[in-house]
Amino acid sequence: MAIHSYAAFDRGSALEPFEYDLEDIGPHDVEVQITHCGVCHTDLHLIDNDWGISSYPLVPGHEIVGTVRSIGEEVLSLEVGQRVGIGWQRGACLSCELCASAHDNLCPNSDLTCVGNFGGFASAIRADSRYTFPIPDLMTSENAAPLLCAGATAFAPFRRYIKGPMSVAVIGIGGLGHLALQFANALGCEVTAISSSPDKEREASLFGAHHFLFTDDETKLRMHRGEFDFILSTVFADLDWGAYVELLKPNGTLCFVGAAGKPISIPAFDLISAQRTITGSAIGSRAIIQEMLEFAARHQIQAQVEVMPMTEANLALERVRKNHARYRVVLANTF
Ligand code: NAP
Ligand code: ZN
Repeated sequence: MAIHSYAAFDRGSALEPFEYDLEDIGPHDVEVQITHCGVCHTDLHLIDNDWGISSYPLVPGHEIVGTVRSIGEEVLSLEVGQRVGIGWQRGACLSCELCASAHDNLCPNSDLTCVGNFGGFASAIRADSRYTFPIPDLMTSENAAPLLCAGATAFAPFRRYIKGPMSVAVIGIGGLGHLALQFANALGCEVTAISSSPDKEREASLFGAHHFLFTDDETKLRMHRGEFDFILSTVFADLDWGAYVELLKPNGTLCFVGAAGKPISIPAFDLISAQRTITGSAIGSRAIIQEMLEFAARHQIQAQVEVMPMTEANLALERVRKNHARYRVVLANTF
């Protein structure tokens, strides 16, 4: 059956209709009829080939929810008709040291949903059933879709670094950031939103932020030196990272999930003198994604979304590019 999709045919170009055929279904694969797909900022990085890993035609979309419409012969965990989600990773070797130690998100043989494969701005998709996750019943599909990438990416570093009721700041209140505020609050932390958009203050508080720092006011930022145990940066902009490191307590950690474009420059003395750590985090392992979905359902955490028809994929991408999305655009399938 032909798959209908929207693809970029060149670096930075607008999406256009694109059709392709699927190969025979693999023994562990499922085929999912897509109902919803979130628009992650990574889709823009890929369309623009910011990371030099894109190939064209490029079908973006890796925050997918839909219904299983066929399964490979060895699939026991899912059944036809079940509502499921697929994120950035649609498979891994499941036999290397990283996969065996529950770090399969770092598997060097990862199969990625829209790098080397056609993604979720489409009528349907194939993925390994072991990277296809049942969506909790209480969640709507549009609110659940962004959890598959943004939710996993925000939750994973908190699971790794948050020990008890810490003081946590989230830089950038977009798709990842607004979910990070909700997770940090549910984990019992004192939560600060750090944002370049003053109009986000009220909603940041509804997402669980106890404090809001507007980054244009540098003096206000400096007043918070040495205050945070953990800072999660979701921005892709090149900020004055040295100033942010100073906001960390001794032994504090600055973790990047947003892909800043330029090299990060930080005085070594500011790390040494207070034993601070800088690190990064990549999506979440399949165990973490499963745990995140259960945690989100239990704490009623969901994405705040703007639903647009998939025919308006280009307009949706523009909203994300201009930081107009509040807080995730989700495309509803029109194929
Ligand atoms: P998004 O929805 O566009 O949100 C990014 C936020 O960054 C914006 O809402 C804005 O928040 C802030 N921002 C934008 N421009 C800025 C500027 N010039 N200066 C300061 N802040 C600015 O993007 P997203 O989907 O959350 O993704 C964020 C980043 O994470 C992207 O680089 C994406 O590729 C990356 N990502 C990484 C992973 C991973 O596995 N590590 C997974 C998914 C995405 P304010 O308005 O509050 O300032
Ligand atoms: Zn993403």
